Amino acid sequence: MRPLILAICAVLIGAPLFVAKSSDEISAKAKKLHFSSIIVDTHDDTTQRLLTPGFDIGARHNDGSIDIPRMRDGNLGAIFFSIWMSGTVTGPEAVKRTLDQIDAVHEMVRTHSKDLVFCTTAEEIRRAHADGKIAVLMGVEGGHMIASDLSVLRSYYALGVRYMTLTHSVNDEWADSSTDKPAHNGLTDFGKDVVREMNREGMMVDISHVADKTFYDALAVSSAPMIASHSSCRALCDHPRDMTDDMIKALAAKGGVIQINYYMGFLSHQYRDAMKNNPDFDKQMQAELEKRCGKDEGCQLTEGDKIVREAVAAGKLPRVSWELIIDHIDHAVKLVGADHVGLGSDFDGANMPYGMEDASDLPKITDALLKKGYSEADIRKILGENTLRVMEQVEATAKTLSQSK
Ligand SMILES: [Zn+2]
Repeated sequence: MRPLILAICAVLIGAPLFVAKSSDEISAKAKKLHFSSIIVDTHDDTTQRLLTPGFDIGARHNDGSIDIPRMRDGNLGAIFFSIWMSGTVTGPEAVKRTLDQIDAVHEMVRTHSKDLVFCTTAEEIRRAHADGKIAVLMGVEGGHMIASDLSVLRSYYALGVRYMTLTHSVNDEWADSSTDKPAHNGLTDFGKDVVREMNREGMMVDISHVADKTFYDALAVSSAPMIASHSSCRALCDHPRDMTDDMIKALAAKGGVIQINYYMGFLSHQYRDAMKNNPDFDKQMQAELEKRCGKDEGCQLTEGDKIVREAVAAGKLPRVSWELIIDHIDHAVKLVGADHVGLGSDFDGANMPYGMEDASDLPKITDALLKKGYSEADIRKILGENTLRVMEQVEATAKTLSQSK
């Protein structure tokens, strides 16, 4: 009896845990839909790896989540490379490092032009898709990188940056972050000018990372729809980085999109609690990462992922399944409809759930949504069309504002 029961248990419990990496389990209908859709991911931190000498985006890697072969496997059609540094880096140093990262993205496209094409508009993304190329875009993750200077913001736009996240993890000079103590009561007057200038230029306003008050302030000022480039739902995981139902409704009411983040700590309440109850784990991990990688952020992200997965294997952290991504998508869709939800993975910047280790796993999302009864039209919207629509609206708003002072 016992071996049989164990075998049955293994089948019952093990089934969702051993999802194959290949797309063999994906239905033919899902494959057809997925591979004919434009998949847009609004947030990837692979830029940090570009700065690591010897890293080649054209080669298949067995660590990290993004490279050309795996983007091809998962039909990732448009990817926003995040320009990021810690919010503690400010002033001219922040501007210099931003320019270095922007250059690294352009150089990556130049040296892989057979597969990649640099894009700045929704129309260019559609053209890239028609040409069989992967569209590369850029977002600046944190207002600290403009050094409180609107001319720097305009220069970033001129270099191709198409969204800016108003803060990162700490407050900047003009906006409060969701993971810092309030200092500005949301957006300062200058912060409101930044939002207006972004509208005028045609740069999407990204409210991921910002404090709730900053979100509502930005929403009141912005004349174009906004995005939450990589945030999930706070009703399912009580983290200040996630959005409350009220925020998701307010964002959608003005035409915006929440692009669901796949990070285990934003998807799973159990995971967040485990991290919260074990503050030493984070400290130990930071110390270990400094030892292994020094200041190399690209190395830190891949090594950090190994450490977290070792902790999960040892039972110190809960194992979070990729299927929670579907729960968050579904929660937001039930709240505001399928026109206001998208994908913002945080690949190469956060610990991915089991079964969504890299871009090649993306067809599972299409398959799962079909199985849930979503229409093909709604799935295409979630996969990318909603983000393209917001881009078009932001571009149109900029056109009407372009003569304004
Ligand atoms: Zn982030």
